[in-house]
Amino acid sequence: MVQNTASISSDLLAEALKATVDGIVISEVSGDQCSIIFVNPAFELLTGYTADEVLGKDYWSYIQDTEEQSEIEVLRQAVFNQESCRVTIPIRNKKGEPFWSELSISPVFSDGGQLTHYIALQKDVTERVEKEKSIQERHETLLSLKDELQELASRDSLTGLYNRRYFGQELKRLWAVHQRLEATMAVAFIDIDSFKLYNDHYGHLEGDKALKAVADKISESFSRKADLVARFGGEEFVVVATLENGVDSFIKHLERLRQSIIDLKIENQYSAVSSYLTISTGVCYGVPPKDSSSSLFTRDADIAMYQAKKTGRNRIEVVSYEPDEETLLKPAS
Ligand code: GH3
Ligand code: MG
Ligand code: MG
Repeated sequence: MVQNTASISSDLLAEALKATVDGIVISEVSGDQCSIIFVNPAFELLTGYTADEVLGKDYWSYIQDTEEQSEIEVLRQAVFNQESCRVTIPIRNKKGEPFWSELSISPVFSDGGQLTHYIALQKDVTERVEKEKSIQERHETLLSLKDELQELASRDSLTGLYNRRYFGQELKRLWAVHQRLEATMAVAFIDIDSFKLYNDHYGHLEGDKALKAVADKISESFSRKADLVARFGGEEFVVVATLENGVDSFIKHLERLRQSIIDLKIENQYSAVSSYLTISTGVCYGVPPKDSSSSLFTRDADIAMYQAKKTGRNRIEVVSYEPDEETLLKPAS
């Protein structure tokens, strides 16, 4: 038979409170004062305070010293509104050591609706919170590892530039953006001249060093956030840029890059072009045509680059998809 609490003796209720495994604190409200009138043995065990030490004191002073001030604010609001609430905060024990507590506070009203008491239930949830925290930490570590791996997978190990796979992905995105905004973009295809001869005569290791130096110069030249620089493969690089300032300034910039590669003074005495390492560049620019593939400008920049090779190397050849612009080469159809 279910028994109504009214028919349970107060002694029995007091015994039940004493036997409860969670800490219980009952405070009496009198004017502005709120003083503890009862704590159970579980509270004493949990906090290290004896009943004698806390009776008559304000419970608030035991809980507000925590770094979780946002939770304290939730509590404060609930107290202000005379509502019940539950928070999880680190509360300090008598030794000053914080332990995670789930704290439920409920106001008690008299028949006349006057606030008379607060009943607080304090449960040690350190184990659960620590577990949640360690799961969260592991989750964050895994996320940052995933980011690192993604970054590694998108980079070329020799030059540190983006690799061809990443270039393909990013190009698709940039292509779609420029297509939608009808903005002009350019793809530059850069190839080191007579690099096979360089490798043959100076060795593969020196070849690697030269490749890295050229890659550094290219990424230094195109370091704006919106620029995309990648190693397309072997001794070939690609640059994708938005032509905000027109094509002329972009070509001038590529001319400066061409000169700065010569200025690196990487000796290539077997080259027919120059006694220093040089590059040939093909550029294709324009507004990406509707329903076209994102590889269109790259393909035509590559063709333009071969034209630059055919016409002497160490130079830049440009094709355009803008109908009114004069072009050095007709876009491949
Ligand atoms: P061109 O002026 O027509 O471009 O002639 P090239 O010799 O540069 O072109 P080719 O395609 O014949 O040779 C490219 C060379 O680039 C061949 C290869 O030895 C070299 N190469 C490609 N990747 C690497 C690399 O990672 N390290 C080194 N050291 N050399 C590379
Ligand atoms: Mg090549
Ligand atoms: Mg080459």
